[in-house]
Amino acid sequence: MRLSRFFLPILKENPKEAEIVSHRLMLRAGMIKQQSQGIYTWLPLGKRVLDKVNAIIREEQNRAGAVELLMPTLQSAELWQESGRYDAYGKEMLRIKDRQERPMLYGPTNEEMITDVFRSFVKSYKDLPLNLYHIQLKFRDEIRPRFGTMRSREFLMKDAYSFDLNREGAVHAYNRMFAAYLRTFTRMGLRAIPMRADTGPIGGDLSHEFIILADTGESEVFCHKDFLDLDIPSEDTNFEDAAGLKGIFDKWTSRYAATSEMHDAEAFDAIPEGDRLSARGIEVGHIFYFGTKYSEAMGAKVQGPDGKEHAVHMGSYGIGPTRLVPAIIEASHDENGIIWPKAIAPFEAIVINMKSGDAACDAACETIYNALLKAGIDVLYDDKDERAGAKFATADLIGAPVQVIAGPRGVANGEVEIKDRKTGERETLTIEAAINRLT
Ligand code: ATP
Ligand code: MG
Ligand code: MG
Ligand code: MG
Repeated sequence: MRLSRFFLPILKENPKEAEIVSHRLMLRAGMIKQQSQGIYTWLPLGKRVLDKVNAIIREEQNRAGAVELLMPTLQSAELWQESGRYDAYGKEMLRIKDRQERPMLYGPTNEEMITDVFRSFVKSYKDLPLNLYHIQLKFRDEIRPRFGTMRSREFLMKDAYSFDLNREGAVHAYNRMFAAYLRTFTRMGLRAIPMRADTGPIGGDLSHEFIILADTGESEVFCHKDFLDLDIPSEDTNFEDAAGLKGIFDKWTSRYAATSEMHDAEAFDAIPEGDRLSARGIEVGHIFYFGTKYSEAMGAKVQGPDGKEHAVHMGSYGIGPTRLVPAIIEASHDENGIIWPKAIAPFEAIVINMKSGDAACDAACETIYNALLKAGIDVLYDDKDERAGAKFATADLIGAPVQVIAGPRGVANGEVEIKDRKTGERETLTIEAAINRLT
């Protein structure tokens, strides 16, 4: 991508409305624009990051055996009347009427709708286990939308729903998602800690929130320090192996970790003082097992091996991609801007032409840019006619992990500089060596 052809509306001034660093940086770097309170446009730079976050989520959901579909944002109130949640949900639900005066709603979550999909097609235990997910917009009329896309009213959620014949199967399904979540957040450069959580209005008796420790987090959390270095399940984790997955779950739940709602001060105080972590955290994911709550109410039943009808055991598993993007920035930035982990960087590298219009600089940059493109690298070429200082500031702000800097003096010797955005280290290399380094 050539910067002269891209759409990167950088803000020079610090936006006053931004209270936390991720919100400030997302606005300054031209990633998002607020359209009305808690409702955002994802501008091209932000959209690229969001797509990479979603791609990782998808890969790990698929690896764990979940199957993607896409449900609509608008739902009929009837489904929610069946489950009894239409009245219970309260003011967070945006209620709408269509032209026939039929009550509709913008989905805050999809348990009812997925249960309807399931009951329409699945009739036998032989079609289980099943886990269906989608990545779709949700709307919750939050009383206090804030911190940009961290707590917005319209937001993206990956929500998966599992269906099993009995509790044992459902626990296996739960553990698949538990392991998949550990892998998902790690691949984004985050350490998420699963914490025992309250099940809230969704109900059920097995639930974990995945929390990123951050001073700006809205949750108060308590956990054992060991969580900071526990091993993550490997890429070849066997998701069919229920005992193996239980081993992962047991390991990751053997230490104390709870949000304030579930906090047990006595158990926490039993941990040696030096091993206690009392911090703030951001909820980036949440998994629930809720048994037959919706399947009973909505008649989602399958025929079991005994020939009888059984209400299926269900779980639901959410991740917030539009919250993850600012959470990653909270965890990875400096005073000059964002420092993207490579896996989700909007551009893996930026080529900075310090003197656009200079024939030698232009030629060197084109050579490098084309070689990186050819190697399949997401590269941004700053070909704009701007002073070098402004270009460096932009490059640091938008946070590509590697910068290739080409100026007239170096290029005259056939050389460019490579700068590591995170460490600030610079190295002078020949153009050829720079290309080899990056491809
Ligand atoms: P919170 O406690 O922050 O209000 P929640 O517990 O209401 O979140 P869940 O119903 O568990 O949220 O939804 C699953 C995931 O969706 C959350 O873990 C979070 O990552 C994301 N999410 C929920 N509400 C929002 C929001 N208003 N803005 C952005 N992401 C959200
Ligand atoms: Mg909420
Ligand atoms: Mg919550
Ligand atoms: Mg939650």
